[in-house]
Amino acid sequence: MRQESEKTSVQDDILYTITSIQRFATHDGPGIRTVVFFKGCPLHCPWCANPETWQKEPELFHDDSLCTGCGRCVLVCPKRAVAVIDGKARVNRRICDGCAKCTDACLNKAMEVTGKRMTIPEILVEIRKDDEYYQASGGGITLSGGEIFAQDPVPLLKALKEQGYHTAVETEGAYGLEKLEQAMPWIDLVYHDVKHCDPAKLKKFTGADFAEITDHLRYLKDSGKPVIIRIPVIPGFNLDELEDIRMYVKELGFDRIQLLPFHPMGKGKWQKLDRQYPYEQTPMMDKTQLESFRDEATEIGGH
Ligand code: SF4
Ligand code: SF4
Repeated sequence: MRQESEKTSVQDDILYTITSIQRFATHDGPGIRTVVFFKGCPLHCPWCANPETWQKEPELFHDDSLCTGCGRCVLVCPKRAVAVIDGKARVNRRICDGCAKCTDACLNKAMEVTGKRMTIPEILVEIRKDDEYYQASGGGITLSGGEIFAQDPVPLLKALKEQGYHTAVETEGAYGLEKLEQAMPWIDLVYHDVKHCDPAKLKKFTGADFAEITDHLRYLKDSGKPVIIRIPVIPGFNLDELEDIRMYVKELGFDRIQLLPFHPMGKGKWQKLDRQYPYEQTPMMDKTQLESFRDEATEIGGH
């Protein structure tokens, strides 16, 4: 990283919508990292651990377990988007615009807005807090989501590289290839999701286009940049076809694969968004279930 006095000026007129900035991450690239989670995703995978990243706009989390039904939120909502029904606040999400007035009014912290607008300088303030740790560990910054290309990550990536940070991105390839091409000069490492190699199944479960994702993967292979393929392993979706998926990835020329066993840790967030979690009854996968897939190219990651 450059010293403070050497830092170049950065663009300050762009507003990113960020769900969180996680410090001291150790599983999303080399060394100690800060992970910036972007809001917005073109896919809607039913096992998603971060469903609050689907929409680009800020959204309201409502925690039923904390709500006493006091109605303070009803009184302050300028949109009349909230009512108390059967002793609990209920939000009309078609009307709510995430203004956050109810979060200030609620004494029980049952309302919370997810998604904060931040400029690049504001994001950099958070990132710089851990400069000494990145330096000591060979770490850096990872952009994740959601799908980072649902917004335009290039100005932020460019600012990060100009400030001397190692940059990694986590992406899934469901967007125009030109966006990735424009960003590549500012990216040091790519984590790319591969969810399935059966086009019909991929489309049905996630909405993704297999041909488009394959184009992205071919481009990445040709780019010569380091790429790690991540396969979320989901019972009832791809667990039984895992070997076929690994073969597809290997045939494309990739030799680093991480298998991420299913975990239901997003369940609470689905509930707070009033969405039915399709994997409610599916238990967390035991990593040892995947041991037989471990080889020189494949590691078992996750929880
Ligand atoms: S103010 Fe909070 S506790 Fe009261 S009804 Fe609204 S969400 Fe529930
Ligand atoms: S975030 Fe704003 S619009 Fe939405 S329920 Fe709360 S007060 Fe109403």
